[in-house]
Amino acid sequence: MQDTLKHRGMRNKLVDTVAGKGIKSKAVLEALRAVPRHLFMDSGFESHAYQDKAFPIAAGQTISQPFTVAYQSELLDVQKNDKILEIGTGSGYQTAVLLELKARVYTIERQLELFKKVKLFFQKMGYRPKKLIFGDGYKGLPEEAPFDGIIVTAGAPEVPKALLSQLKVGGRLVIPVGQDEQQMTLIIRKSDKEFERKTYGAFRFVPLLEDKN
Ligand code: SAH
Repeated sequence: MQDTLKHRGMRNKLVDTVAGKGIKSKAVLEALRAVPRHLFMDSGFESHAYQDKAFPIAAGQTISQPFTVAYQSELLDVQKNDKILEIGTGSGYQTAVLLELKARVYTIERQLELFKKVKLFFQKMGYRPKKLIFGDGYKGLPEEAPFDGIIVTAGAPEVPKALLSQLKVGGRLVIPVGQDEQQMTLIIRKSDKEFERKTYGAFRFVPLLEDKN
């Protein structure tokens, strides 16, 4: 599979759609324009890649909807060289968008099948996160903390405390919170002990699962 003019044309339309839904960040829209989403999907779904929809990937998980990826990326407000932790690598699509935004990305996936697949895929495509980790992102990544930003791409029943403690002062955590339906939530660390919490629209994500061992 490759990236053709036809794919680029469909991608331009997708970017227009996402912009039309309210995404304003030029940097985020350009990142979406740059990432060949069809290559992150199983070939059976390739023809759907430029619809603004989530689709199944392996292990019962989904590649997030482009609008959702753009929305979370905009809330994260990534600056060049920011150290970003992503929980839920999945297909790697959101990871690739963060890399296009010139972040230093640390990303964690708990499904072995997806982890192995995305590892090979990143190598093939030349995407270079600082670290791609197989494990439980519920605990964050204390050995690399603190982070300028943390993004959770699965629905969390509540905000994991470990993630709050791994934010820099001024750092941002973007996390969908809720059981069946999630409220997009932005938490900004104002000082060592103070956190500001803002909530946005409703979304539906696959669940963030905690490995209790
Ligand atoms: N950003 C991904 C979204 C994939 S869906 C994409 O656009 O493709 C969410 C992912 O979170 C799934 O792959 C799921 O396996 C993973 N996940 C769920 N709980 C997790 C946890 N505790 N730690 C790490 N990954 C987790």
